[in-house]
Amino acid sequence: MISLKRKNNQRKLSVRSISYLLSTRHSLLMNKLNEEEQRIILHKGTERPFTGEYDKFYEQGIYICRQCNNPLYTSDDKFSSGCGWPSFDQEIEGHVKNVPDADGRRVEIICNNCEGHLGHVFTGERLTEKNTRHCVNSVSIQFIPAGKEVPAIHENK
Ligand SMILES: [Zn+2]
Repeated sequence: MISLKRKNNQRKLSVRSISYLLSTRHSLLMNKLNEEEQRIILHKGTERPFTGEYDKFYEQGIYICRQCNNPLYTSDDKFSSGCGWPSFDQEIEGHVKNVPDADGRRVEIICNNCEGHLGHVFTGERLTEKNTRHCVNSVSIQFIPAGKEVPAIHENK
């Protein structure tokens, strides 16, 4: 975000301008992704069911975006759906965006900061009281145990 109060924020503005110039490819600012992470996060792929590292994983903590560190989900909202992917019945408000999937049927979920692909959201399955299932690829997220410092977000604005 570039401040409009240029006179009072000369320094802030110039720092922002420099980082913008350095980031002609915004991926330079983001976490480096391996091939599998690129396939899923950038090219909207899907990991094989029952194979993800967080499929059967229920420790206390938060899940951040693998690409930009944006906090997306907490362990409090994770539940066992049996579908083969990590399932949450609620996102951290304002951090996940719903968009129509290219298939014309499903609703895709993406990180609200870097727009990396997370998975899909389904409603009306009556699996939890909230009646919502965020079906998320383990590859798209990174678990941070409770009490451990959360890394800074790579802002994509
Ligand atoms: Zn992100």
